[in-house]
Amino acid sequence: MQIAFIGLGNMGAPMAANLAAAGHDVTGFDTAGTSADGVTMAASAKEAVKDADVVITMLPNGGILRAVADDIIPAMAAGAVLLDCSTVDVASARAVADQAAQAGLGALDAPVSGGIGGAQAGTLTFMVGGSPDAFEKARPLFDIMGQKAVHCGPSGNGQAAKICNNMILGATMIVTCEAFSLADKLGLSREAMFDVVSTSSGYSWSMNAYCPAPGVGPTSPADNGYTPGFAADLMLKDLRLAQQAAESVDADTPIGEAATELYRRFVEEEDGAGRDFSAMLPRFETRGRS
Ligand code: NAD
Repeated sequence: MQIAFIGLGNMGAPMAANLAAAGHDVTGFDTAGTSADGVTMAASAKEAVKDADVVITMLPNGGILRAVADDIIPAMAAGAVLLDCSTVDVASARAVADQAAQAGLGALDAPVSGGIGGAQAGTLTFMVGGSPDAFEKARPLFDIMGQKAVHCGPSGNGQAAKICNNMILGATMIVTCEAFSLADKLGLSREAMFDVVSTSSGYSWSMNAYCPAPGVGPTSPADNGYTPGFAADLMLKDLRLAQQAAESVDADTPIGEAATELYRRFVEEEDGAGRDFSAMLPRFETRGRS
């Protein structure tokens, strides 16, 4: 396939490189001038997309996605598919899909889980919103960049799935960290805490696969000084998107709201910026109740 890839950052560059390595003809563009292995660079986004069957975007936020969509949609070939893999607000995903449909193009929102490691290894999970036809057209690309693609329904539903998942993840990580901190103060060893919880009803991905306590459980960012992994800043971004979506549909999400405020304080007022989101554990360790 002829593929255009707009946004060759931490995630986009390895995803584009994997598509090129699999034999696709990939043309890229990034305003920062970054590139990726096997990708031919274009002078502009418009230039990159003009002959593409599928245009993939991997951008920082919904505002930038909307601006890029305004620029490239008029330049895309008839029948092409715009495949946005960024994490953005549901409203922007739906607005861009509508704009693409009006221009006779297919559109998918397909945010990912799996982080930079998953992007490099080609093991991402895609949560996809859009038409079944567009999904089938993109499926071979999902197979290269990831290990799983779930079709979640119409446009915007991929973003909805992503922010619901990450709201659970953020809240679960916080309570796992506060429980470790409580266990410390009660004199329970971290090893015993892990052994019990990871095989009891408090188990979760945060505990079992990404344990926030160093030296306990599987290797995780906690064993590497809390270098991300998945940065607290990105968790805050996703929690804010979940709160924005909850407000737009009048959904009551008190734990999601509390998790957002804790990560906001951690990133903006404490030392959380640039640290893994599991670094909530050392944060709780040093605190009392007030
Ligand atoms: P990044 O900042 O490394 O990459 C974004 C890239 O977009 C940058 O290279 C930037 O120069 C480029 N860009 C910005 N504006 C542009 C424009 N107008 N035209 C072309 N390029 C432009 O971010 P990232 O970590 O690669 O994340 C990308 C997306 O994936 C985000 O939406 C993020 O929330 C999501 N995501 C990231 C991770 C992760 O672990 N990093 C995990 C899951 C999802």
